[in-house]
Amino acid sequence: MRDNPAHTLKISMSKLKPFSASSYIHLLQWVINKNAVINIQNNDQKCFLWCITAAFYPVDNHPYQVLNYVQYENEMMQAMRDISFPVAITHISKFEKQYNELLSNNKININVNAYDESNLVCPLHISEMPIDTTQIDLLYLSNKTTPHYCLIKNFSRLVRCQTTEHEHKYYYCKRCLSQFNTEGKLLEHLVYCKKFEASRTIMLNPGQTIKFKKLNSLLESDVIIIADFECFLKHVQKRFNATSHAVSVI
Ligand SMILES: [Zn+2]
Repeated sequence: MRDNPAHTLKISMSKLKPFSASSYIHLLQWVINKNAVINIQNNDQKCFLWCITAAFYPVDNHPYQVLNYVQYENEMMQAMRDISFPVAITHISKFEKQYNELLSNNKININVNAYDESNLVCPLHISEMPIDTTQIDLLYLSNKTTPHYCLIKNFSRLVRCQTTEHEHKYYYCKRCLSQFNTEGKLLEHLVYCKKFEASRTIMLNPGQTIKFKKLNSLLESDVIIIADFECFLKHVQKRFNATSHAVSVI
């Protein structure tokens, strides 16, 4: 040290930021561009609760901030009995039921959607509640370790690009994402669509073909026997006049 003294000593200090679990996940850019989804920037695991709150108590300024909704937390927590955070999709029906029992003035139905690897929105959970209750549509995101819900504020705007090039407002069936010009047409469709599992309809391009791996899954029964009894008719030798009735002997 005496032969090679230090002339300067540089000390760098930085703020310690320990890793903390957060349910906030960034949206994909194409979703942000739609301006149809509110992605609340929460640092807790309550994104589901904040989304429901934001649906009932919307704000114009900075709707992504949790501070806008904390004043309603106690009210919303009444419907969270025996439901833990983060809220699993399998618990949404329970929340819905408890909410509707406790706050019957505002009956709700909650649908959850996600986008797949092709960036197409598809239904993940569809409420069994009547359509004339207040509909809340959520977008489910996951980065493999953290689930996160966002609030869809304009469903038509979010999914329209994957069903049509037109810019009109459409009424969408949340079960199959079919679009309709009027609510009446949608209600007519729902009578039949509710008989099937929720799924997304994919239309093939011209010339494209589709192949079923399990054809028997399309049938109610594995084997169907159609017997044509006419083949057992015995030949009738006797001739009848024009006024007589035809007679078949089996
Ligand atoms: Zn449908």
